[in-house]
Amino acid sequence: MSKARKIRCEACGKRVTSHEVVSFGDAVGGYRDLCGQCFNAEVARLSRPVRNT
Ligand SMILES: [Zn+2]
Repeated sequence: MSKARKIRCEACGKRVTSHEVVSFGDAVGGYRDLCGQCFNAEVARLSRPVRNT
């Protein structure tokens, strides 16, 4: 087994292996490397309408 490359999640700072990292973003705003947890959190945040009532 080869050493798995570790990447730091740009949201929480957790070190995760490269295959667990998801590049999240777009070509305009740029991409961030997020762990699965933060990726799910970002998706949930963006898909949920923000209400301040
Ligand atoms: Zn994270």
